[in-house]
Amino acid sequence: MAVFKPENVEDFYEIGEVLGSGHFGQVRQVRERTSGKFWAGKFLKIRKVACSRLGLDRSSVEREVEILQAVQHPNIVALKDVFESRAEVVLILELVSGGELFDFIAEKENLLETEAIEFMKQILEGLRFIHCKNIAHFDLKPENIMLSDKVSKPPNIKLIDFGLAHMFHPGEEYKSTSGTPQYIAPEVISCQPLSTAADMWSIGVITYILLSGLSPFQGDTDEETLGNVIAMKYEFNEHYFSLTSPMAKDFIQKLLMKNPEDRMTAEECLLHPWIKPITPKQAAKRNRSSINMKNFKKFNARRKWKMSYNMVSVCNRLVNLRLLCKDTSSPDPLQRQCESDVEDTESKPASLLRRRLSSSS
Ligand code: ATP
Repeated sequence: MAVFKPENVEDFYEIGEVLGSGHFGQVRQVRERTSGKFWAGKFLKIRKVACSRLGLDRSSVEREVEILQAVQHPNIVALKDVFESRAEVVLILELVSGGELFDFIAEKENLLETEAIEFMKQILEGLRFIHCKNIAHFDLKPENIMLSDKVSKPPNIKLIDFGLAHMFHPGEEYKSTSGTPQYIAPEVISCQPLSTAADMWSIGVITYILLSGLSPFQGDTDEETLGNVIAMKYEFNEHYFSLTSPMAKDFIQKLLMKNPEDRMTAEECLLHPWIKPITPKQAAKRNRSSINMKNFKKFNARRKWKMSYNMVSVCNRLVNLRLLCKDTSSPDPLQRQCESDVEDTESKPASLLRRRLSSSS
């Protein structure tokens, strides 16, 4: 059982700039007072009353902590410490300062498949490790694949955000409908029992996007996207995949399988000839293929735009919610308790949105 320290985090760390925001709080750079070393502090709002839609259950933070403690690996963000106050839990994490992998790639002029494969290998190594421990991430998407720093050569991948991760116990049946529509596996949408194979579906989607700059199931709305996933409606349009090797397409096809049991595991992916060529001919093919950089840059620019748009609409919802609360002349006691949650969240609008299927595609 993880130790949540009751001390004030600020006695040990100076709180610095905001690095990012999630649905339940902010991540800030923090500086350890004794060593001067920089870390990332993930500040998570804890739900105070059962009726509140704001904040997280303490038990789900306990799960995230328990999982992070179990997954120490070079490609997984490390957890150093946990502090707890009345309304907040702060996770002190390894500082991942290289930005998102997709942003790093989008700055390049071109990228050979062999170079993209080096990144894929690290992602798969991290996944193989957690899957061996019967842990699934369940929220794999570009925002959660980062680089440890801007100087390491080769760049070092770190998987972050284990907020939806789950540790399977023997014989356990686990269902969840959380995730992000573009990357979500069909069994999540159809409320089937889940396994680590759901992560492998997301890897198929991420690889598809990385090579073509197209999102395979993306519709105009979340509903349409989810419908496309269920219908397995995707293709390799030659216009976008003209630079892609047949081995890469085979790799993706073996991940985008409707039946989770038919999908490659992380271990099998690492042995697929696209990742680990057996013959010199296979190796040469990868060197002649490259990613569709022009379209990838477009995809990434749209993705970033959507992320900032989502943030603005969350802020607008907060303003509306506060106006609504002020209009209520005599709220019942339960409602008042919920309102006090709203006040607490004032400076952290991102924590207002709950993670759900339709929240962040
Ligand atoms: P979401 O609700 O979107 O899943 P979350 O509340 O679980 O998010 P994270 O995804 O873990 O929070 O973090 C939010 C953002 O903060 C990330 O997208 C990233 O930009 C930044 N971030 C998270 N962890 C770190 C870290 N260890 N080092 C640097 N930045 C980080």
